[in-house]
Amino acid sequence: MSTKKHVFVGSFASAESLKELSVNVGYIVVEDGKITKINKDERNADLQSQFAGYEIVRLNDSQILIPGFVDCHTHAPQFPNIGVGLDRPLLEWLAKYTFPLEKRYSDVEFAAKVYDVVVKRLLNNGTTTACYFGSLHAEGTLELAKSAIKHRQRVFVGKVSMNLQNDAGYFNDTEKELAEVQTFVENVLAYKNDLVQPILTPRFAVSCDDDLMSGLAEISDKYDCRIQSHISENHSEIEYVLKINPTCKSYAEVYDKNRILNNRCIMAHAIHLTDCELQTMVHKGVSIAHCPASNTRLCSGLCPVRKYLDNNLVVGLGTDVSGGDSASILDAMRRTMDVSAHLEMKGDKGFTISWSEAFYLATLGGAKALKLDHKVGSFEVGKEFDALLIDPYAFDGPIDKHDYCISSSKEERAVTLLQKFIYLGDDRNIVQVYVKGQRVKDLL
Ligand SMILES: [Zn+2]
Repeated sequence: MSTKKHVFVGSFASAESLKELSVNVGYIVVEDGKITKINKDERNADLQSQFAGYEIVRLNDSQILIPGFVDCHTHAPQFPNIGVGLDRPLLEWLAKYTFPLEKRYSDVEFAAKVYDVVVKRLLNNGTTTACYFGSLHAEGTLELAKSAIKHRQRVFVGKVSMNLQNDAGYFNDTEKELAEVQTFVENVLAYKNDLVQPILTPRFAVSCDDDLMSGLAEISDKYDCRIQSHISENHSEIEYVLKINPTCKSYAEVYDKNRILNNRCIMAHAIHLTDCELQTMVHKGVSIAHCPASNTRLCSGLCPVRKYLDNNLVVGLGTDVSGGDSASILDAMRRTMDVSAHLEMKGDKGFTISWSEAFYLATLGGAKALKLDHKVGSFEVGKEFDALLIDPYAFDGPIDKHDYCISSSKEERAVTLLQKFIYLGDDRNIVQVYVKGQRVKDLL
């Protein structure tokens, strides 16, 4: 059992904004899960006597403390399918692989087993906050909330809502669905665990009609709940949504007329937004979960993240398993940089996202997208301490240590090591993980 009071001494880095990376050498004091002091001067007094009764964690010269990663969009029930069937386009992939697997989660025991593995895997990968889609099953999805509580992950958990027919027979009657969602929300709130919150989850406008979406908007208002869905991922999907909603001029309008779009809403993908839709999303305060792995694997498209950021759309990153083939936000950062570089090479000038901007999107950007930036996402006095102790040269890790370093000061060295971790690192380099001040992974 870890102590409730820590002092972390060494290098720490956190993105203060898209353009501002703060790297310091000093110490961070954490008490009862919150950051109470940040000292950016390592030549400080005798910490041992100043902080008697605290656990003092001294980082070695190659270790750095960074904020925990935020995964704004992933599907917990799809993890058994990760890396399978990605040679099909979205709607075919859903029908052949995804819906048949998700139907299995009526079996609560099966759900509990899978979700325990999922939550542990994400924490191991440094994801301290995750926004999850569950399945259509309320009881099964409650198992996901229970796993998050057991392993101490900060989460939004959504019971998926669908009421339109599909070949797999994976949908619910509207009245029954709305009643089950309400009970699900009440059950999650009854855990009274501040790390775990319910989120309303209409799958997307292909699977939900107006009655279901507007009913969910009402429940969202009643309980002041967040709401998540997908928008404009794939051209066939957009065509289909407009075909079944002939009075709407755009995909965004389908959600907007049902009061889904507001500042409690986070939408995954948003690859093919028109300028008018982009303005609607910005105006309504909707956030975007950029999921570059699945956008590439399912050949959905190249999301113009730079254009969205320039238009003040709030963007975080998502792994979108199992459309995405990696459960790591480190991978999402690299794919974000790759997709942005591909857009630039296609002629979209200035679209490249740098490694430090990707680091922002993975931490504070994600926290903003989930409206948690008052609590997590960066190191600030008063924020809760969700953090990763990374060691780019961890024993048995993927990064080789050479007797050459271009950097001179300790801060410069930390910047060099952070870049190496972002471009080359994996879970072996994430040696400790903290959520609200408590250690949830320890390889040291
Ligand atoms: Zn998704």
